[in-house]
Amino acid sequence: MEKSKDIYSISSLSDMPPEEFRKYGYQLIDWITEYLRDSEKYPVLSNIRPGEVKNKISPNPPLGPEQFSEVLNDIDKIIMPGMTHWNHPNFMAYFNSTASAPGILAELLASAFNVNGMLWKSSPASTELEQTMMSWFRQMLNLPEDFWGIIYDTASVSSMHAIAAAREYANIKSREKGLAGRSDIPRLRLYCSEQAHSSIDKSALTLGIGLEGIRKIPVDKEFKMIPEKLSEAIIQDKQNGWLPFCVVATIGTTSTTSVDPVNEIAEICKRANIWLHVDSAHAGVTAMLPEMKNNFEGIERADSVVVNPHKWLFVPVDLSVLFTKHPDVLKRAFSLVAEYLKTGEDNKVENYMDYGIQLGRRFRSLKLWFVIRYFGVEGIQNILREHLRLGKLFASWVDENPNFERLAPTPFSTVCFRANPRDLNENTLNELNEKLMNKINETGKLFITHTKLNNIFVIRLVVSGIRTREEHVTKAWELIQKTYNEIKGY
Ligand code: PLP
Repeated sequence: MEKSKDIYSISSLSDMPPEEFRKYGYQLIDWITEYLRDSEKYPVLSNIRPGEVKNKISPNPPLGPEQFSEVLNDIDKIIMPGMTHWNHPNFMAYFNSTASAPGILAELLASAFNVNGMLWKSSPASTELEQTMMSWFRQMLNLPEDFWGIIYDTASVSSMHAIAAAREYANIKSREKGLAGRSDIPRLRLYCSEQAHSSIDKSALTLGIGLEGIRKIPVDKEFKMIPEKLSEAIIQDKQNGWLPFCVVATIGTTSTTSVDPVNEIAEICKRANIWLHVDSAHAGVTAMLPEMKNNFEGIERADSVVVNPHKWLFVPVDLSVLFTKHPDVLKRAFSLVAEYLKTGEDNKVENYMDYGIQLGRRFRSLKLWFVIRYFGVEGIQNILREHLRLGKLFASWVDENPNFERLAPTPFSTVCFRANPRDLNENTLNELNEKLMNKINETGKLFITHTKLNNIFVIRLVVSGIRTREEHVTKAWELIQKTYNEIKGY
Protein backbone atom coordinates (compact mmCIF):
# COMPACT_ATOMS: atom_id res chain seq x y z
CA MET A 1 0.00 0.00 0.00
CA GLU A 2 1.25 3.45 -0.82
CA LYS A 3 2.61 5.49 2.03
CA SER A 4 0.78 8.81 2.29
CA LYS A 5 1.18 11.76 4.57
CA ASP A 6 -1.71 11.93 6.97
CA ILE A 7 -3.53 15.23 6.65
CA TYR A 8 -6.15 14.57 9.28
CA SER A 9 -5.70 15.35 12.93
CA ILE A 10 -6.42 12.60 15.41
CA SER A 11 -8.78 13.61 18.15
CA SER A 12 -8.06 11.74 21.34
CA LEU A 13 -11.68 11.25 22.41
CA SER A 14 -13.59 10.25 19.31
CA ASP A 15 -13.58 7.85 16.39
CA MET A 16 -11.73 8.34 13.13
CA PRO A 17 -13.12 11.50 11.45
CA PRO A 18 -15.49 10.83 8.51
CA GLU A 19 -13.15 12.28 5.88
CA GLU A 20 -10.29 10.12 7.09
CA PHE A 21 -12.56 7.08 7.04
CA ARG A 22 -13.60 7.91 3.48
CA LYS A 23 -9.99 8.33 2.37
CA TYR A 24 -8.75 5.07 3.83
CA GLY A 25 -11.97 3.29 2.95
CA TYR A 26 -11.47 4.08 -0.74
CA GLN A 27 -7.80 3.19 -0.46
CA LEU A 28 -8.64 -0.17 1.10
CA ILE A 29 -11.33 -0.95 -1.48
CA ASP A 30 -8.80 -0.15 -4.24
CA TRP A 31 -6.33 -2.47 -2.57
CA ILE A 32 -8.94 -5.28 -2.27
CA THR A 33 -9.98 -4.79 -5.91
CA GLU A 34 -6.41 -5.30 -7.10
CA TYR A 35 -5.84 -8.15 -4.67
CA LEU A 36 -8.84 -10.06 -6.01
CA ARG A 37 -8.07 -9.19 -9.64
CA ASP A 38 -4.41 -10.19 -9.37
CA SER A 39 -4.72 -13.01 -6.84
CA GLU A 40 -2.73 -15.31 -9.14
CA LYS A 41 0.43 -13.29 -8.76
CA TYR A 42 0.79 -14.48 -5.15
CA PRO A 43 2.03 -17.94 -4.17
CA VAL A 44 -1.14 -19.79 -3.18
CA LEU A 45 0.51 -21.30 -0.10
CA SER A 46 2.59 -19.18 2.22
CA ASN A 47 6.11 -20.58 2.53
CA ILE A 48 7.20 -18.74 5.68
CA ARG A 49 8.52 -20.49 8.78
CA PRO A 50 6.61 -20.51 12.11
CA GLY A 51 7.18 -17.28 14.06
CA GLU A 52 8.08 -15.10 11.05
CA VAL A 53 4.92 -12.99 11.18
CA LYS A 54 5.07 -12.65 14.96
CA ASN A 55 8.68 -11.50 14.81
CA LYS A 56 7.72 -8.57 12.60
CA ILE A 57 5.05 -7.26 15.01
CA SER A 58 5.91 -5.22 18.09
CA PRO A 59 5.39 -7.39 21.18
CA ASN A 60 3.80 -4.41 22.99
CA PRO A 61 0.78 -2.33 21.95
CA PRO A 62 1.44 1.32 20.98
CA LEU A 63 0.72 3.77 23.77
CA GLY A 64 -0.13 6.62 21.46
CA PRO A 65 -1.99 6.71 18.13
CA GLU A 66 -0.29 5.62 14.91
CA GLN A 67 -0.92 6.96 11.43
CA PHE A 68 -3.52 4.72 9.80
CA SER A 69 -1.46 4.74 6.61
CA GLU A 70 1.24 2.89 8.58
CA VAL A 71 -1.27 0.24 9.62
CA LEU A 72 -2.29 -0.28 5.99
CA ASN A 73 1.34 -0.42 4.87
CA ASP A 74 1.93 -3.28 7.26
CA ILE A 75 -0.68 -5.38 5.43
CA ASP A 76 1.78 -5.64 2.52
CA LYS A 77 4.87 -5.91 4.68
CA ILE A 78 3.77 -8.21 7.50
CA ILE A 79 0.51 -9.92 6.68
CA MET A 80 0.79 -10.74 2.96
CA PRO A 81 3.92 -12.92 3.21
CA GLY A 82 2.12 -15.04 5.81
CA MET A 83 -1.06 -15.52 3.80
CA THR A 84 -2.29 -18.77 2.34
CA HIS A 85 -4.65 -17.46 -0.30
CA TRP A 86 -8.03 -19.16 -0.06
CA ASN A 87 -9.29 -16.86 -2.83
CA HIS A 88 -6.55 -18.02 -5.23
CA PRO A 89 -7.84 -19.96 -8.28
CA ASN A 90 -5.22 -22.64 -7.60
CA PHE A 91 -6.35 -23.25 -4.03
CA MET A 92 -7.70 -26.78 -4.48
CA ALA A 93 -7.12 -28.00 -0.92
CA TYR A 94 -9.47 -29.08 1.93
CA PHE A 95 -12.95 -27.85 1.01
CA ASN A 96 -12.42 -24.45 -0.48
CA SER A 97 -14.10 -21.27 0.78
CA THR A 98 -13.90 -18.39 -1.65
CA ALA A 99 -15.19 -14.89 -0.97
CA SER A 100 -17.13 -13.34 -3.84
CA ALA A 101 -17.13 -9.55 -4.23
CA PRO A 102 -20.80 -9.08 -3.23
CA GLY A 103 -20.15 -11.21 -0.15
CA ILE A 104 -17.17 -9.03 0.78
CA LEU A 105 -19.27 -5.86 0.43
CA ALA A 106 -21.98 -7.38 2.63
CA GLU A 107 -19.37 -8.22 5.26
CA LEU A 108 -18.18 -4.62 5.23
CA LEU A 109 -21.71 -3.33 5.68
CA ALA A 110 -22.46 -5.83 8.46
CA SER A 111 -19.49 -4.58 10.44
CA ALA A 112 -20.49 -0.97 9.82
CA PHE A 113 -24.02 -1.63 11.14
CA ASN A 114 -22.51 -3.66 13.97
CA VAL A 115 -25.93 -4.81 15.16
CA ASN A 116 -26.38 -7.62 17.61
CA GLY A 117 -29.24 -9.75 16.32
CA MET A 118 -29.92 -11.54 19.60
CA LEU A 119 -33.54 -10.32 19.75
CA TRP A 120 -36.01 -9.11 17.15
CA LYS A 121 -36.03 -5.79 19.03
CA SER A 122 -32.24 -5.49 19.07
CA SER A 123 -32.31 -5.62 15.27
CA PRO A 124 -35.63 -6.20 13.48
CA ALA A 125 -33.96 -5.98 10.05
CA SER A 126 -31.35 -8.60 10.94
CA THR A 127 -33.97 -11.01 12.32
CA GLU A 128 -36.41 -10.60 9.44
CA LEU A 129 -33.75 -10.74 6.72
CA GLU A 130 -32.41 -13.95 8.28
CA GLN A 131 -35.93 -15.44 8.34
CA THR A 132 -36.42 -14.55 4.69
CA MET A 133 -32.97 -15.79 3.63
CA MET A 134 -33.66 -19.09 5.38
CA SER A 135 -36.81 -19.42 3.30
CA TRP A 136 -34.97 -18.48 0.06
CA PHE A 137 -32.13 -20.89 0.74
CA ARG A 138 -34.53 -23.70 1.70
CA GLN A 139 -36.38 -23.23 -1.60
CA MET A 140 -33.10 -23.14 -3.54
CA LEU A 141 -32.09 -26.48 -2.00
CA ASN A 142 -35.50 -27.98 -2.76
CA LEU A 143 -36.12 -28.79 0.89
CA PRO A 144 -39.75 -29.10 2.01
CA GLU A 145 -41.54 -26.19 3.69
CA ASP A 146 -41.49 -27.74 7.14
CA PHE A 147 -37.73 -27.08 7.45
CA TRP A 148 -37.04 -23.98 9.55
CA GLY A 149 -33.57 -22.42 9.31
CA ILE A 150 -31.04 -20.55 11.42
CA ILE A 151 -27.56 -19.19 10.72
CA TYR A 152 -24.62 -20.17 12.94
CA ASP A 153 -20.94 -19.58 12.29
CA THR A 154 -19.68 -23.02 11.24
CA ALA A 155 -20.92 -26.51 10.44
CA SER A 156 -19.25 -27.74 13.60
CA VAL A 157 -21.47 -25.44 15.64
CA SER A 158 -24.57 -26.21 13.53
CA SER A 159 -24.11 -29.95 14.07
CA MET A 160 -23.48 -29.43 17.78
CA HIS A 161 -26.83 -27.64 18.04
CA ALA A 162 -28.57 -30.37 16.03
CA ILE A 163 -27.16 -33.07 18.30
CA ALA A 164 -28.15 -31.05 21.39
CA ALA A 165 -31.69 -30.90 19.97
CA ALA A 166 -31.57 -34.67 19.43
CA ARG A 167 -30.56 -35.09 23.09
CA GLU A 168 -33.51 -32.92 24.11
CA TYR A 169 -35.80 -34.97 21.84
CA ALA A 170 -34.71 -38.11 23.72
CA ASN A 171 -36.60 -36.69 26.70
CA ILE A 172 -34.11 -37.51 29.42
CA LYS A 173 -34.32 -34.14 31.20
CA SER A 174 -30.67 -33.39 30.46
CA ARG A 175 -31.55 -29.69 30.46
CA GLU A 176 -32.52 -29.81 34.13
CA LYS A 177 -30.41 -32.64 35.47
CA GLY A 178 -27.37 -32.82 33.20
CA LEU A 179 -25.92 -36.25 32.42
CA ALA A 180 -23.16 -36.93 34.92
CA GLY A 181 -23.77 -39.20 37.91
CA ARG A 182 -27.28 -40.26 36.88
CA SER A 183 -28.42 -43.83 37.41
CA ASP A 184 -31.97 -43.13 36.15
CA ILE A 185 -31.04 -42.97 32.45
CA PRO A 186 -29.05 -45.20 30.08
CA ARG A 187 -25.89 -43.89 28.41
CA LEU A 188 -26.54 -42.07 25.16
CA ARG A 189 -25.32 -43.42 21.84
CA LEU A 190 -24.66 -41.38 18.70
CA TYR A 191 -24.04 -43.03 15.30
CA CYS A 192 -22.15 -41.85 12.25
CA SER A 193 -20.01 -43.52 9.62
CA GLU A 194 -16.26 -44.04 9.89
CA GLN A 195 -16.01 -41.26 7.29
CA ALA A 196 -18.00 -38.62 9.22
CA HIS A 197 -16.31 -35.29 9.94
CA SER A 198 -14.41 -34.84 13.21
CA SER A 199 -16.88 -32.10 14.21
CA ILE A 200 -19.33 -34.88 15.13
CA ASP A 201 -16.80 -36.30 17.60
CA LYS A 202 -16.29 -32.77 18.93
CA SER A 203 -20.04 -32.40 19.46
CA ALA A 204 -19.94 -35.59 21.52
CA LEU A 205 -17.09 -34.11 23.56
CA THR A 206 -19.04 -30.90 24.12
CA LEU A 207 -22.43 -32.38 24.94
CA GLY A 208 -21.41 -34.92 27.56
CA ILE A 209 -21.87 -37.88 25.19
CA GLY A 210 -18.13 -38.63 25.28
CA LEU A 211 -16.13 -40.36 22.59
CA GLU A 212 -17.26 -43.75 23.92
CA GLY A 213 -20.80 -42.62 23.21
CA ILE A 214 -20.11 -42.51 19.46
CA ARG A 215 -20.42 -45.65 17.40
CA LYS A 216 -18.70 -45.45 14.03
CA ILE A 217 -20.55 -47.53 11.45
CA PRO A 218 -18.43 -49.27 8.79
CA VAL A 219 -18.53 -48.11 5.17
CA ASP A 220 -18.67 -49.99 1.88
CA LYS A 221 -16.10 -49.91 -0.95
CA GLU A 222 -17.39 -46.49 -1.99
CA PHE A 223 -17.02 -45.11 1.58
CA LYS A 224 -20.78 -44.97 2.20
CA MET A 225 -22.32 -46.01 5.51
CA ILE A 226 -23.65 -49.60 5.43
CA PRO A 227 -27.27 -49.31 6.65
CA GLU A 228 -27.49 -52.96 7.75
CA LYS A 229 -24.51 -52.38 10.07
CA LEU A 230 -26.27 -49.33 11.52
CA SER A 231 -29.40 -51.36 12.14
CA GLU A 232 -27.44 -54.14 13.83
CA ALA A 233 -25.53 -51.66 16.00
CA ILE A 234 -28.73 -50.00 17.23
CA ILE A 235 -30.32 -53.34 18.14
CA GLN A 236 -27.17 -54.53 19.88
CA ASP A 237 -26.76 -51.27 21.82
CA LYS A 238 -30.35 -51.35 23.02
CA GLN A 239 -29.84 -54.92 24.26
CA ASN A 240 -26.73 -53.74 26.11
CA GLY A 241 -28.55 -50.89 27.85
CA TRP A 242 -27.55 -47.92 25.69
CA LEU A 243 -30.03 -45.27 24.53
CA PRO A 244 -29.56 -44.68 20.76
CA PHE A 245 -30.59 -41.03 20.28
CA CYS A 246 -29.05 -39.64 17.08
CA VAL A 247 -27.70 -40.74 13.71
CA VAL A 248 -25.54 -38.43 11.60
CA ALA A 249 -25.52 -39.25 7.88
CA THR A 250 -23.20 -37.35 5.54
CA ILE A 251 -23.87 -36.22 1.99
CA GLY A 252 -20.38 -35.35 0.77
CA THR A 253 -17.92 -36.72 3.35
CA THR A 254 -14.73 -34.77 3.90
CA SER A 255 -12.22 -37.29 2.59
CA THR A 256 -13.98 -38.51 -0.56
CA THR A 257 -17.38 -36.72 -0.79
CA SER A 258 -19.10 -40.09 -0.50
CA VAL A 259 -22.86 -40.04 0.00
CA ASP A 260 -24.44 -42.09 2.78
CA PRO A 261 -27.74 -43.80 1.77
CA VAL A 262 -29.93 -41.29 3.60
CA ASN A 263 -33.23 -42.82 2.56
CA GLU A 264 -32.41 -46.21 4.05
CA ILE A 265 -30.88 -44.60 7.13
CA ALA A 266 -34.02 -42.46 7.57
CA GLU A 267 -36.13 -45.62 7.55
CA ILE A 268 -34.01 -47.13 10.33
CA CYS A 269 -34.23 -43.90 12.35
CA LYS A 270 -37.99 -43.76 11.91
CA ARG A 271 -38.43 -47.34 13.12
CA ALA A 272 -36.24 -46.70 16.18
CA ASN A 273 -37.53 -43.13 16.79
CA ILE A 274 -34.03 -41.66 16.53
CA TRP A 275 -33.18 -38.12 15.38
CA LEU A 276 -31.53 -38.05 11.95
CA HIS A 277 -29.06 -35.24 11.28
CA VAL A 278 -27.62 -34.85 7.76
CA ASP A 279 -24.21 -33.19 7.43
CA SER A 280 -23.96 -31.77 3.93
CA ALA A 281 -21.70 -28.87 4.85
CA HIS A 282 -19.81 -28.81 1.54
CA ALA A 283 -21.88 -30.66 -1.06
CA GLY A 284 -25.32 -29.52 0.12
CA VAL A 285 -25.42 -26.53 -2.25
CA THR A 286 -25.57 -28.91 -5.24
CA ALA A 287 -29.11 -29.82 -4.13
CA MET A 288 -29.89 -26.71 -6.22
CA LEU A 289 -29.25 -28.73 -9.36
CA PRO A 290 -32.06 -31.03 -10.53
CA GLU A 291 -29.52 -33.40 -12.14
CA MET A 292 -27.89 -33.98 -8.70
CA LYS A 293 -31.17 -35.03 -7.08
CA ASN A 294 -30.15 -38.66 -6.66
CA ASN A 295 -27.48 -37.65 -4.09
CA PHE A 296 -30.12 -36.11 -1.85
CA GLU A 297 -32.71 -38.88 -1.83
CA GLY A 298 -34.31 -39.09 1.60
CA ILE A 299 -32.95 -35.75 2.86
CA GLU A 300 -36.54 -34.56 3.25
CA ARG A 301 -36.96 -37.23 5.93
CA ALA A 302 -34.15 -35.83 8.13
CA ASP A 303 -34.84 -34.02 11.39
CA SER A 304 -32.01 -31.58 10.71
CA VAL A 305 -29.62 -30.70 7.90
CA VAL A 306 -26.51 -28.53 7.80
CA VAL A 307 -25.26 -26.76 4.65
CA ASN A 308 -22.44 -24.19 4.65
CA PRO A 309 -22.77 -21.26 2.23
CA HIS A 310 -19.25 -20.34 3.31
CA LYS A 311 -17.89 -23.43 1.65
CA TRP A 312 -19.31 -23.60 -1.88
CA LEU A 313 -21.67 -20.62 -2.21
CA PHE A 314 -18.97 -17.92 -2.39
CA VAL A 315 -20.04 -16.33 0.90
CA PRO A 316 -17.05 -15.20 2.98
CA VAL A 317 -16.33 -17.18 6.15
CA ASP A 318 -18.33 -17.55 8.33
CA LEU A 319 -21.89 -18.62 7.56
CA SER A 320 -23.39 -22.03 8.17
CA VAL A 321 -27.11 -22.87 7.94
CA LEU A 322 -28.93 -25.41 10.07
CA PHE A 323 -32.39 -26.49 8.96
CA THR A 324 -34.62 -28.44 11.30
CA LYS A 325 -38.20 -29.63 11.35
CA HIS A 326 -38.25 -29.20 15.13
CA PRO A 327 -37.34 -25.60 16.01
CA ASP A 328 -39.51 -26.08 19.10
CA VAL A 329 -37.17 -28.84 20.34
CA LEU A 330 -34.08 -26.73 19.60
CA LYS A 331 -35.72 -23.88 21.51
CA ARG A 332 -36.55 -26.16 24.42
CA ALA A 333 -32.90 -27.17 24.56
CA PHE A 334 -31.53 -23.62 24.64
CA SER A 335 -34.08 -20.96 25.51
CA LEU A 336 -33.36 -19.14 28.75
CA VAL A 337 -34.56 -15.55 28.95
CA ALA A 338 -33.01 -13.29 31.57
CA GLU A 339 -35.12 -10.38 32.82
CA TYR A 340 -32.98 -7.82 31.00
CA LEU A 341 -33.63 -9.57 27.69
CA LYS A 342 -37.44 -9.62 27.90
CA THR A 343 -39.30 -7.42 25.41
CA GLY A 344 -42.90 -6.45 24.75
CA GLU A 345 -42.84 -8.28 21.40
CA ASP A 346 -41.65 -11.65 22.70
CA ASN A 347 -44.94 -13.44 22.01
CA LYS A 348 -45.20 -12.06 18.47
CA VAL A 349 -41.68 -12.44 17.08
CA GLU A 350 -38.74 -14.83 16.79
CA ASN A 351 -35.74 -14.05 18.99
CA TYR A 352 -32.83 -16.01 17.51
CA MET A 353 -30.99 -16.06 20.87
CA ASP A 354 -33.56 -18.70 21.93
CA TYR A 355 -32.14 -21.25 19.50
CA GLY A 356 -28.56 -21.61 20.57
CA ILE A 357 -25.73 -21.20 23.00
CA GLN A 358 -24.70 -17.72 21.89
CA LEU A 359 -26.51 -14.55 22.83
CA GLY A 360 -24.83 -12.09 20.46
CA ARG A 361 -25.25 -12.70 16.73
CA ARG A 362 -23.68 -11.00 13.73
CA PHE A 363 -25.75 -9.73 10.78
CA ARG A 364 -24.65 -12.63 8.59
CA SER A 365 -27.80 -12.88 6.47
CA LEU A 366 -26.69 -9.76 4.55
CA LYS A 367 -24.01 -11.91 2.92
CA LEU A 368 -26.57 -14.42 1.65
CA TRP A 369 -28.85 -11.64 0.45
CA PHE A 370 -26.12 -9.87 -1.51
CA VAL A 371 -24.65 -13.05 -3.02
CA ILE A 372 -27.98 -14.63 -4.04
CA ARG A 373 -29.27 -11.37 -5.56
CA TYR A 374 -26.03 -10.56 -7.37
CA PHE A 375 -25.63 -13.94 -9.08
CA GLY A 376 -29.26 -15.08 -9.08
CA VAL A 377 -30.16 -18.73 -8.54
CA GLU A 378 -29.40 -19.58 -12.17
CA GLY A 379 -26.06 -17.80 -12.02
CA ILE A 380 -25.06 -19.84 -8.97
CA GLN A 381 -26.30 -23.05 -10.61
CA ASN A 382 -24.14 -22.32 -13.66
CA ILE A 383 -21.00 -21.86 -11.54
CA LEU A 384 -21.68 -25.07 -9.60
CA ARG A 385 -22.24 -26.97 -12.86
CA GLU A 386 -18.93 -25.71 -14.21
CA HIS A 387 -17.12 -26.87 -11.05
CA LEU A 388 -18.73 -30.30 -11.35
CA ARG A 389 -17.69 -30.46 -15.01
CA LEU A 390 -14.10 -29.51 -14.17
CA GLY A 391 -13.96 -32.09 -11.38
CA LYS A 392 -15.10 -34.82 -13.79
CA LEU A 393 -12.64 -33.60 -16.43
CA PHE A 394 -9.73 -33.84 -13.98
CA ALA A 395 -10.92 -37.30 -12.90
CA SER A 396 -10.93 -38.42 -16.56
CA TRP A 397 -7.30 -37.27 -17.00
CA VAL A 398 -6.30 -39.29 -13.93
CA ASP A 399 -8.14 -42.35 -15.27
CA GLU A 400 -6.44 -42.09 -18.67
CA ASN A 401 -2.88 -41.85 -17.30
CA PRO A 402 -1.30 -45.28 -16.56
CA ASN A 403 0.95 -43.75 -13.85
CA PHE A 404 -1.99 -42.48 -11.82
CA GLU A 405 -5.15 -43.92 -10.34
CA ARG A 406 -8.36 -42.65 -8.78
CA LEU A 407 -9.08 -44.01 -5.32
CA ALA A 408 -12.76 -43.10 -4.85
CA PRO A 409 -15.76 -42.22 -6.99
CA THR A 410 -16.21 -38.52 -7.82
CA PRO A 411 -19.89 -37.71 -7.16
CA PHE A 412 -19.13 -33.95 -6.93
CA SER A 413 -15.92 -32.08 -7.84
CA THR A 414 -13.43 -33.56 -5.35
CA VAL A 415 -11.00 -36.02 -6.93
CA CYS A 416 -9.13 -38.56 -4.76
CA PHE A 417 -6.10 -39.96 -6.55
CA ARG A 418 -2.47 -40.97 -6.32
CA ALA A 419 0.49 -41.70 -8.51
CA ASN A 420 0.91 -45.45 -8.92
CA PRO A 421 3.67 -46.52 -11.32
CA ARG A 422 2.73 -50.18 -10.53
CA ASP A 423 6.29 -51.21 -9.59
CA LEU A 424 6.26 -50.10 -5.94
CA ASN A 425 4.94 -51.59 -2.70
CA GLU A 426 2.28 -49.80 -0.62
CA ASN A 427 4.72 -48.19 1.85
CA THR A 428 6.90 -46.81 -0.92
CA LEU A 429 3.80 -45.62 -2.75
CA ASN A 430 2.68 -43.69 0.33
CA GLU A 431 6.11 -42.05 0.58
CA LEU A 432 6.11 -41.24 -3.13
CA ASN A 433 2.70 -39.58 -2.99
CA GLU A 434 3.46 -37.60 0.14
CA LYS A 435 6.64 -36.35 -1.52
CA LEU A 436 4.73 -35.55 -4.70
CA MET A 437 2.13 -33.49 -2.83
CA ASN A 438 4.73 -31.63 -0.76
CA LYS A 439 6.87 -30.82 -3.82
CA ILE A 440 3.83 -29.47 -5.66
CA ASN A 441 2.79 -27.33 -2.69
CA GLU A 442 6.35 -25.98 -2.32
CA THR A 443 6.11 -24.46 -5.79
CA GLY A 444 3.44 -22.05 -4.55
CA LYS A 445 1.58 -22.66 -7.83
CA LEU A 446 -1.02 -25.10 -6.48
CA PHE A 447 -2.27 -26.07 -3.05
CA ILE A 448 -3.67 -29.59 -2.60
CA THR A 449 -4.09 -31.66 0.57
CA HIS A 450 -4.38 -35.33 1.45
CA THR A 451 -6.36 -37.90 3.38
CA LYS A 452 -5.82 -41.56 4.22
CA LEU A 453 -8.14 -44.31 3.06
CA ASN A 454 -7.44 -47.83 4.33
CA ASN A 455 -3.87 -46.69 5.17
CA ILE A 456 -3.32 -45.45 1.65
CA PHE A 457 -2.01 -41.88 1.25
CA VAL A 458 -4.55 -40.18 -0.99
CA ILE A 459 -4.19 -36.78 -2.67
CA ARG A 460 -7.38 -34.72 -2.90
CA LEU A 461 -8.01 -32.03 -5.50
CA VAL A 462 -11.14 -29.91 -4.99
CA VAL A 463 -12.66 -27.63 -7.63
CA SER A 464 -15.01 -25.22 -5.87
CA GLY A 465 -13.38 -21.78 -5.97
CA ILE A 466 -15.23 -18.95 -7.69
CA ARG A 467 -12.05 -17.89 -9.56
CA THR A 468 -11.07 -21.41 -10.66
CA ARG A 469 -11.49 -22.02 -14.40
CA GLU A 470 -10.54 -24.79 -16.84
CA GLU A 471 -7.11 -23.26 -17.49
CA HIS A 472 -6.27 -23.57 -13.76
CA VAL A 473 -7.33 -27.20 -13.59
CA THR A 474 -5.35 -27.92 -16.78
CA LYS A 475 -2.23 -26.28 -15.35
CA ALA A 476 -2.72 -28.13 -12.05
CA TRP A 477 -2.69 -31.46 -13.91
CA GLU A 478 0.39 -30.44 -15.93
CA LEU A 479 2.22 -29.49 -12.72
CA ILE A 480 1.26 -32.76 -11.03
CA GLN A 481 2.59 -34.81 -13.99
CA LYS A 482 5.76 -32.72 -14.32
CA THR A 483 6.53 -33.03 -10.59
CA TYR A 484 5.83 -36.77 -10.74
CA ASN A 485 8.27 -37.17 -13.64
CA GLU A 486 10.91 -35.22 -11.72
CA ILE A 487 10.69 -37.31 -8.56
CA LYS A 488 10.49 -40.58 -10.49
CA GLY A 489 13.58 -39.51 -12.41
CA TYR A 490 12.08 -39.62 -15.90
N1 PLP B 1 -18.82 -31.35 7.90
C1 PLP B 1 -18.14 -31.68 6.80
C2 PLP B 1 -18.65 -32.78 5.92
C3 PLP B 1 -16.96 -31.00 6.50
O1 PLP B 1 -16.26 -31.36 5.40
C4 PLP B 1 -16.51 -29.96 7.33
C5 PLP B 1 -15.29 -29.21 7.01
O2 PLP B 1 -14.67 -29.35 5.99
C6 PLP B 1 -17.26 -29.65 8.46
C7 PLP B 1 -18.42 -30.37 8.72
C8 PLP B 1 -16.84 -28.56 9.41
O3 PLP B 1 -17.01 -27.31 8.83
P1 PLP B 1 -16.80 -25.95 9.64
O4 PLP B 1 -15.39 -25.55 9.39
O5 PLP B 1 -17.79 -25.00 9.05
O6 PLP B 1 -17.06 -26.22 11.07
